[in-house]
Amino acid sequence: MDIATPTDYGAIAAGLTFPSEAFINGRFVAARSGARFTNLNPATAAILGEVAACDADDVDAAVAAARRAFDAGAWSRASPEARKDVLLRLAALLREHAVQLAVMESLDSGKTITDCLNEVGHEVPNFFQWYGELIDKSFGKVAPTDESALALIVHEPVGVAGLVLPWNFPLLMAAWKLAPALAAGCSVVVKPAEQTPLTVLRLAELAAQAGLPDGVLNVVPGFGETAGQAIGRRRDIDVVSFTGSTEVGALFLKYASESNLKPVGLEMGGKSPFIVLDDAPIDDVLVSNAVSAALWNGGQNCSANMRQFVPRSRKDEFLDKVLARVAALKVGDPLDPATEMGAMVSADHQRRVLGFIETGIGEGARVVAGGGALEGLDGYFVRPTVFDDVAHGMTIATEEIFGPVLGVIAFSEPEEALRMAAESVYGLHATVFTRDIDRALHFARRLPCGTVSINRFSEGDIKTPFGGYKRSGSLARDNGTEAIAQYQQTKTIWIGGPEG
Ligand code: NAD
Repeated sequence: MDIATPTDYGAIAAGLTFPSEAFINGRFVAARSGARFTNLNPATAAILGEVAACDADDVDAAVAAARRAFDAGAWSRASPEARKDVLLRLAALLREHAVQLAVMESLDSGKTITDCLNEVGHEVPNFFQWYGELIDKSFGKVAPTDESALALIVHEPVGVAGLVLPWNFPLLMAAWKLAPALAAGCSVVVKPAEQTPLTVLRLAELAAQAGLPDGVLNVVPGFGETAGQAIGRRRDIDVVSFTGSTEVGALFLKYASESNLKPVGLEMGGKSPFIVLDDAPIDDVLVSNAVSAALWNGGQNCSANMRQFVPRSRKDEFLDKVLARVAALKVGDPLDPATEMGAMVSADHQRRVLGFIETGIGEGARVVAGGGALEGLDGYFVRPTVFDDVAHGMTIATEEIFGPVLGVIAFSEPEEALRMAAESVYGLHATVFTRDIDRALHFARRLPCGTVSINRFSEGDIKTPFGGYKRSGSLARDNGTEAIAQYQQTKTIWIGGPEG
C-alpha cells in the first residue's frame, strides 16, 4: 500500500490481529510458565491483548536456539551476498506491510500515526536495506609485513547477541540493533519493552518469511527483572546491546561482570541543551526546531532538547513565539493524521512526568503553557508544557523527564551558556543556533556529547553514528558503519612463509 495515500487508520486498526506469543526457533510459542501480561493502548486505556510473559526459562530456550543456529552456520557462515538477499527481502516485506505495522505501532505506543508511518514505513526498512547493502562491501585488511609473512585482519560475527529495547521507538530501536547484528552474521535474542511488544514480534515473522533461518532471530516479550535480567546474566550470550535508562544500563554492566564479562553496548538517557546565540534570528525555523526538539514524540525521546538556553535580552521574543507554536500543537488521537502529539506510553509514565512538573513548580520555575494532564480523554496524555525562569541546577533542569516539557534558562554571555549546557551527567545531544561559523565550531568542539546539531534539531541519519558521552552511553555506537563493530570480533591471521 502506498503510505502517502490518505487512509482510514481506525478501520485498519479494527481489522488487525496482534501477535501474542514469544518467537523462538522460527515459530510462535507460549511462555513456558504459561504466564501472560496485559498489553494496553495508552491513548485509550483499552486492552489490546495478552502477551506471553517470558522469564529466564524462555530466555534459555531462545539462547539455545540462537546458539544452535549460530554453530550450524546457515547464517553466521553464509556468504555476505546471501545475507544481503535476505535483508533486502525483509526490507521489501516491511515496506509491503508498512501501514499495518505503523498502525500497530501507534496503538501499542500512543505515538502519532504520522511518526509511525515515517519510522516503520520508511526508516525501519531502510535500515535493513542499508546494512544488507553494506555487508558485501566491507573489507578486512592486510597488515604490512616483510615477505616472510602475510598478516590478515578479518572480522567475524561475535556469536549470540542479546538486544534489549526501550518503548519510545519500539520498531526503530529494534532495527537500529537488529540490522547490523544480522548483517554481521550474529544470532539474536531480542527483548522488546513490556509496554510495546507487538511490532518486533511481527517483524520476526516477516524475517522468517524473508528466509532468515530458524533460531537466528528470537523475540522474548516480558519484563525487565525477569527476561531482561536473564539476557544480561546468560553466559551463552556473547554481547549485549541495550537502549534504555541509565539506571538499567548500569545493571547490565553488573550482570556482565557477574556472569561472562560479555561486552555491553549502552545507549541511555540524556538532558540535552538547545542553545540560541544572540546573533541567531528567532524566526520560524528556529522556533519550530525549538518546539520539536523538546516536544517531538511527546518529549519521550532520549535526545529531547528540554533545556533551552536563550540570551536574557531575547527571552521574551523567544517565549512569545514558542508559546504561539505550542498553543497550535494538536494533541490527541494518535490515529488522526492531523495529530502532532500523542499519549504518554503508560499511566505510570504519565504520573512520573506530572510529578516532574509539580517538582518544577515547587522549586520556583514558572509554568507558562500546559502544566498538567490533558482532560477529557481516556488515555494517558500530558499537555505540552513550557517553563520560564528555570534555573540551572533545578531538578527539572538536571533529571531526564522524558515528557512534553520545555524549560527556558536565560544566560548573559555565550560562555555561560556553554558551561551550563556542558555541566550535566549526560552527554547525548545538543543543538546550537548561530550564524557565526566560528562560534558554531567552538560550541561543537566543546560540548561533551555524541551529536551536536547546528541550526537545526537533527539526530543525524542512518549513515551517522549515534551514542552518548558520560552517562548517556558507552563507547559503542548505533548507526553508521560504526554499529557493525558492536557485533564483530576482530581476528588476526598470521601466515608465516618459508622464511617466517
Ligand atoms: P528502561 O531502562 O526502563 O527499560 C529499557 C529496557 O530494559 C526494557 O526492555 C525493560 O524491560 C528492560 N529492563 C528494565 N528493568 C530491567 C532490569 N532490572 N534488568 C534488565 N532489563 C531491564 O527504559 P525505558 O523506560 O523503556 O526507556 C526510556 C529510556 O530509554 C530513557 O531514559 C531514554 O533516554 C532511553 N533511550 C535512550 C536512547 C539512546 O539511544 N540513547 C534511545 C531511546 C531511549
